Amino acid sequence: MEGKIKKISRMLASKEISCTELTQQYLAAMERDDGKLNAYVNRTPDAALQAAKAVDQKIAAGEALLPLEGIPMTLKDNISTKGIETTCCSKILKGYVPIYDATVWEILQKQNAVLLGKTNMDEFAMGSSCETSCFGGAKNPHNLAHVAGGSSGGVASAVGGNLAVYGLGSDTGGSIRQPASFCGLVGLKPTYGAVSRYGLIAYASSFDQIGPITSTVEDAALVYDAISLYDERDSTSSGRKGAPTAQSLVNPIKGMKIGIAKEYFEGIRDDVRTAVEEAIRVYESLGAEIVHFDMPSLKYSLPVYYILACAEASSNLGRYDGIRYGYRTDHYADRDEMVCKTRSEGFGEEVKRRILLGTYVLSSGYYDAYYKKAQNLRGTLVHAFEDAFQKCDVLLAPTVPMTAFPQNFTAQDPVETYLTDICTVPVNIAGLPAVSIPCGSDAAGLPIGMQLIGNRFCEGTILNAAYQYETAVGEHVFRTADMGVSV
Ligand code: GLN
Repeated sequence: MEGKIKKISRMLASKEISCTELTQQYLAAMERDDGKLNAYVNRTPDAALQAAKAVDQKIAAGEALLPLEGIPMTLKDNISTKGIETTCCSKILKGYVPIYDATVWEILQKQNAVLLGKTNMDEFAMGSSCETSCFGGAKNPHNLAHVAGGSSGGVASAVGGNLAVYGLGSDTGGSIRQPASFCGLVGLKPTYGAVSRYGLIAYASSFDQIGPITSTVEDAALVYDAISLYDERDSTSSGRKGAPTAQSLVNPIKGMKIGIAKEYFEGIRDDVRTAVEEAIRVYESLGAEIVHFDMPSLKYSLPVYYILACAEASSNLGRYDGIRYGYRTDHYADRDEMVCKTRSEGFGEEVKRRILLGTYVLSSGYYDAYYKKAQNLRGTLVHAFEDAFQKCDVLLAPTVPMTAFPQNFTAQDPVETYLTDICTVPVNIAGLPAVSIPCGSDAAGLPIGMQLIGNRFCEGTILNAAYQYETAVGEHVFRTADMGVSV
């Protein structure tokens, strides 16, 4: 399926529409529809129109456009933007204006990306519904009574509601793939290190990774290719390895080995299982070879993730002390009281729960019992995936055991929500790439997603497999909601 990015690029180059007109259409659509979605927490119309003007000047001068030039887009509000407030949707960072750009945003600005605004997220990216945001959650464009997912819920809501062509989110345990799955979109979590984390506000540094949310596979490939550059400012950066992924999309997948690990299908809702099994049959019809095996250590994924991610978060979030950034409590007698009250008032319930959990598993009496054990099991999971990729080229699994939750699901039982991350966290533990793509809808019309998981730096392979499926099933599966701007 042709993506929106190439289509818009062609329309701009042929002067069918100017970039300023296009941007104005998106800004008007935001005015009209974002009140319902709550996708944007900070709109940047001036920056958008300024970038659009630069693009129009380039077109007028007869210059060729770069792949992402002039494309209206959004950034999750944990990606630092110089001069533009960046809050992580936390009261503690309200009013914080970064003095530097994240590398990904620096790269995109060089392509005159049209930033429409910063989008909603779970506070500090901790959550699966976007409802821990201090701005209230983003809604699902396919059904406003349901959540957009999380933590990058605002990006998915905006892209699914056609209020941005694409967006960048971050994925620590599923935060790109899960909202993409809930909103019927494509969400790519790259290999750890492929995209620079410089300027991404840290949640759990050994898991965090930036990636695109788009409405088509080709768009995801183009955005990924643009942002996957080596960056010396991120000590874990490696950049993309190999050719641009957009070049591999059309390769035939006859003979490609698609692995099915039975553990990914345990506890999955029946309609989700049926949709994913139907997709497996589509792959068979495309000539892929399906191989079945067990990965028993997958059962450790959730505890390993929640122990290690909370431990890292408790350390990373130590910097919010009321002195250096954002919010500070009004009344205090001394420094200790100021820090304590600032953190108590500034952080939301979920963030505080995780700081407490993380501090507990790192404390001297419990370090060996929890943190160290989880680190060892992380190694076990890495090996389990290494073994799996001896048997297959990509793994196929559901993205989430269910479809988008009704609103307030998380408030009722946060632990129940943790359990829904079961299918997304394994690849973050192992540092692998995975893409979530739509594969059907439930009885209420809410999208169902599946993920294709690859070996390290095999983004080209999983996007190739995703593209071939997209081409086979077409637009009734890959569809955005009926609102916003139609291109
Ligand atoms: N839902 C997971 C969590 O709450 C993942 C979040 C993320 O990827 N940022 O931690």
